Amino acid sequence: MATSVIPSQQTALTASQAVALSLLRDSYRQRTITARTGSDPDDLYRLAMLHDVTAPHGTVEGHECHEARREEPCIACTHAYGRALARQQAQRRRTVSALPRALRPVHSLQGRRVVR
Ligand SMILES: [Zn+2]
Repeated sequence: MATSVIPSQQTALTASQAVALSLLRDSYRQRTITARTGSDPDDLYRLAMLHDVTAPHGTVEGHECHEARREEPCIACTHAYGRALARQQAQRRRTVSALPRALRPVHSLQGRRVVR
């Protein structure tokens, strides 16, 4: 499916897209929306932008809506996104804890210098 270069062009929503947008507005998680409606996350936020639908602020989905509109996310959304990212990274750390020691981040104290 080609991406439209005309942002003002409103296309008719399919039933599942309409459901997806109303779930997004009702602060459902994107994962749930995708599972229920089969909508692609990228499409979801692009549609939300085109139809002027926004997820509630202070959520990861809200952050994605800011991004889709290419605007600076608000503080609440930035915090929600930061928390989700930290959670994701913590999960990843647990799953890669079997990595060799050399590949793990090193916190060196030797780099500290007294500056006069
Ligand atoms: Zn926001």
